[in-house]
Amino acid sequence: FEKLKQGLTKTRNVINDKVDALLSFTKTIDEELYEELEEILITSDVGVNTTMKIIEQLRKKVKENRVDDPAKVKELLKQIIADILDNESESVIPKSIPAVYIVVGVNGVGKTTSIGKMAHYLKQKGYKVMLAAADTFRAAAIDQLEVWARRSGVDIIKHQEGADPAAVVFDAIQAAKARKVDILICDTAGRLHNKKNLMEELRKINRIIEREYQEAYKRTFLVLDATTGQNALNQAKEFMNVANVNGLILTKLDGTAKGGVVISIANELNIPVTMIGVGEGIDDLQEFNPKEFADAIL
Ligand code: GDP
Repeated sequence: FEKLKQGLTKTRNVINDKVDALLSFTKTIDEELYEELEEILITSDVGVNTTMKIIEQLRKKVKENRVDDPAKVKELLKQIIADILDNESESVIPKSIPAVYIVVGVNGVGKTTSIGKMAHYLKQKGYKVMLAAADTFRAAAIDQLEVWARRSGVDIIKHQEGADPAAVVFDAIQAAKARKVDILICDTAGRLHNKKNLMEELRKINRIIEREYQEAYKRTFLVLDATTGQNALNQAKEFMNVANVNGLILTKLDGTAKGGVVISIANELNIPVTMIGVGEGIDDLQEFNPKEFADAIL
């Protein structure tokens, strides 16, 4: 939790400190207070829709519980945020094994790094993990994934640059079966600028998995860069049009004041936030814990 809190310092500074300052000179819970809170949340990347929902719930709770002390507002706010996040969180631990995870996301969001950290995390939990370098578009992506495989001590299946991603996945599945791997994590190119290609590529990969690995528990994770704030939300919506995303990984929450976007994303997309990145180290990808997150920013 300390690591999380430290990583979220900047977000905490914009949300918590402003709320504290506001409440410290507020004497009554009135319209002006709600408006000020609304402004703090909107300017902290929580997004207009999500902010409206939070404030509406706050009004309801204040009324229901007959709260008249502004000092108590913070605790209510924290509860509401934790509840919104809780509806949309799910562990990265597979419901059954073997499992196969597909990871998508545009270049630079932290996809490769997150796969490496995720492999490390799952290995620590006792699972046998394997990586498939199905982002064959750039040679650097294959090399970088290999570095992470070594770092986290897991096997990797790779082909040459430009190879068919579905063929990499096919080979990886055979190897995973032979080596009794619990979780196979597939990196993909995720070039959103060419939606048709991306869709076709993912469809091919999924077809191979359906055919060759029917018994596997399947999930598709989307990696988003939290420092891009509300843009991350738009990117997610685009990906949802082409891929059956059912888990989110939000990176670079350390060093950004835009951590509020996590609440916005969880609320608007109805996709569970699974892991969050709070640093560049191998241990800096944590399972998402709604209550701890709310505690760290407020
Ligand atoms: P990809 O192009 O999406 O595969 O992105 P990379 O995995 O290569 O990551 C791009 C950069 O973001 C690298 O320098 C990573 O170290 C950095 N990065 C990824 N996740 C985090 C994070 O949670 N925190 C910080 N501070 N940096 C991160």
